[in-house]
Amino acid sequence: MNLTLPTPTKSKQFLADADRKAFDLEHRRKIRFNIGKYNAAVQTGLGFYEDHELARARASYLKAQVINNLDQYLLQWEENFTARGGKVIWAQNAEEALFEIGKIMQRRKARTVVKAKSMTTEEIHLNKYLEKNGIESVETDLGEFIVQLNGERPYHIVTPAMHLSKLDIADIFVKHLGIEYTDDAQKLVLTARHLLRDKYTAAEVGITGGNFLIADTGAIAVTENEGNARLSAAFPKTHIAIVGIEKMIPRLQDLDLFWPLLSTSGTGQQVTVYNTIYTGPRQPLEKDGPEEMFVVLLDNGRTNLLAQPDKREALHCIRCGACLNVCPVYKNIGGHTYEATYSGPIGSVITPHLSGMAENKHLSFASSLCGACSSVCPVKINIHNLLLKNRQQSVQEGHSDKEEQRAITVWLHGMKRRWVWDLAPASAKNWVLSRLLGQTGWSKRREAVQIAPKSFKQLWKARK
Ligand code: SF4
Repeated sequence: MNLTLPTPTKSKQFLADADRKAFDLEHRRKIRFNIGKYNAAVQTGLGFYEDHELARARASYLKAQVINNLDQYLLQWEENFTARGGKVIWAQNAEEALFEIGKIMQRRKARTVVKAKSMTTEEIHLNKYLEKNGIESVETDLGEFIVQLNGERPYHIVTPAMHLSKLDIADIFVKHLGIEYTDDAQKLVLTARHLLRDKYTAAEVGITGGNFLIADTGAIAVTENEGNARLSAAFPKTHIAIVGIEKMIPRLQDLDLFWPLLSTSGTGQQVTVYNTIYTGPRQPLEKDGPEEMFVVLLDNGRTNLLAQPDKREALHCIRCGACLNVCPVYKNIGGHTYEATYSGPIGSVITPHLSGMAENKHLSFASSLCGACSSVCPVKINIHNLLLKNRQQSVQEGHSDKEEQRAITVWLHGMKRRWVWDLAPASAKNWVLSRLLGQTGWSKRREAVQIAPKSFKQLWKARK
């Protein structure tokens, strides 16, 4: 359990940023345009399923089976992976992961690292660590490459540069790469491609994430659209994959269920362009591949969730990003406002458990509870219900604001003693209400709530 002390600043900052972003019309235009394209593609992709609901039910069942027996599956996976020469690093937290990665870098005398998109590396702030140690870390996924140039964190777990338009990217390339201005998308892509090619061959170490850990083969499966993860894993002599322990699936054959579910839900593709299964370092008769391969099995708070049977279904997540794309809150406040590695509905569920309830409980309140997230989740996570459970936990642990506690106490007092409430004139009730709601920010952009001059009870009595 995380014992971080409450810091109200983070939640206040969140509210201020959310307020600003929600009224940034240019931001809204870009997000609506980009998410709109994905949502349309997803609808087409879902049409290829004969029975999508059945696929979701199967995936949900399999993930529950794995997560409920994760200890055994992890050991099975480790045994199979190490049998072919793979090395496993068990990292309880970001510090342990970074320490072990640092040792590999030293041994390899690494100066340059090529990195494929991976949210776990964001989670442990790997780039910052490498930079501090004088190692150049180059993001090779185009979206990640762009946000890295711009000094930002990924905006979205699947599409990191979703908040940028083609013109924004042109400006970023001019500013950071010194190219001549062009808004020709193909030229921009070629610029990045040309620059990255040399990095693959120069890098001593390649780092990727992993979409699935496959227990019965001791392999990892990596899904991507640009081929950059393959190059990052194949060229350098050392391949390190950093994977959250919850990414387990039981068998190789289960990929036929999970690969299409992941791509269809996230981008509407029937299957993502490149799907690679890594089973370890290069074997004696193989012509390519790394000389050594490490997999960092990252806990970093995941066992906090595992320890709570009523919330552990959050670990079923396959990071497709679908819940972000349908979330009315995410679409208005954007990914950066969350100030967390994982944004959107699932980010709001897991961040308090990964990074501390006291500091992050406000995220669980950033939801209208409309349930759109749960309805699109390919592994049927009851996301909005988990948000409610987080809220309950945060109140039980005493993390709610003092003003809020006072407001609820006054409200409860009034509601339990109806006669007191009825004694007061409507003007007095309106004054109390405006004070209570004013503290929550309710009235800032809404009309004040007005109490009717006579209550229903009084009207009913008069009628009789
Ligand atoms: S919670 Fe479900 S919809 Fe959201 S990213 Fe995870 S798998 Fe996708």
